[in-house]
Amino acid sequence: REIHLQNIERLAVVGELAAGIAHEIRNPLTSIKGFTKIVKESVDSENLKSYLDITLREIDRINTIVSEFMFISKPQEFMNLQLTNLNRVLSNCIAFMEPQANLKSIRITSYFHSEIQTKCDENQLKQVLINILQNAIEATHDSDQDIEVILKETENNKVLIQISDSGVGITEERTKKLFQPFYSTKEKGTGLGLIICKRIIELHQGTIEIKSKSNEGTVVKILLPIDIPCQVDL
Ligand code: ADP
Ligand code: MG
Repeated sequence: REIHLQNIERLAVVGELAAGIAHEIRNPLTSIKGFTKIVKESVDSENLKSYLDITLREIDRINTIVSEFMFISKPQEFMNLQLTNLNRVLSNCIAFMEPQANLKSIRITSYFHSEIQTKCDENQLKQVLINILQNAIEATHDSDQDIEVILKETENNKVLIQISDSGVGITEERTKKLFQPFYSTKEKGTGLGLIICKRIIELHQGTIEIKSKSNEGTVVKILLPIDIPCQVDL
């Protein structure tokens, strides 16, 4: 499971770079294609023409590969917004993380105040919730401490997802660094979890806020609009 999460995080960074490179490949490719066409029209040799046809086909092939690669490597740009039951998504994520919590005798208690549906990208939201739950579990050492998950509707059409732990907490000075890439206090941490969470929540036009006190615990508050306007541009 840990390996799986780290892969997601690593993929996101590689994806970011790869998407940038893919974009850079496309521009010169467009001019190569244009000039190849011009050359093809101005040569007489049928042999040469057929070679240039192959060149053009291969250019199209690169274009297709690059487009698909951009899609896979930068999934955040292609949100799959669906009306989703948040109670179900949260329950699934908690169930997914429970074995890891059980290993440390940590209980995850949930308080779902109502049944809430909202438009979101379920897989991306799961990625956020799992990372935050994982951070909470990793921060908790004393086995009789619970992790608390709250889901409720707030004023002005918002959904609050709140995940609290009574773990090691974060000093005020460090709180500022939480959303910086590669900031991690863990031996095997990537320091990319929270920045990815933030990006995903912002793509959903929501906010994420972390309040923490050293040795007391941490509260992560996610606010999402219930009616997310469709902002996907495919
Ligand atoms: P990683 O988990 O790979 O270290 P994250 O971006 O998820 O990266 O978290 C960055 C850092 O923020 C962590 O290394 C840890 O120091 C701190 N942190 C995050 N969540 C908590 C939490 N619930 N309690 C204490 N510290 C936390
Ligand atoms: Mg993490």
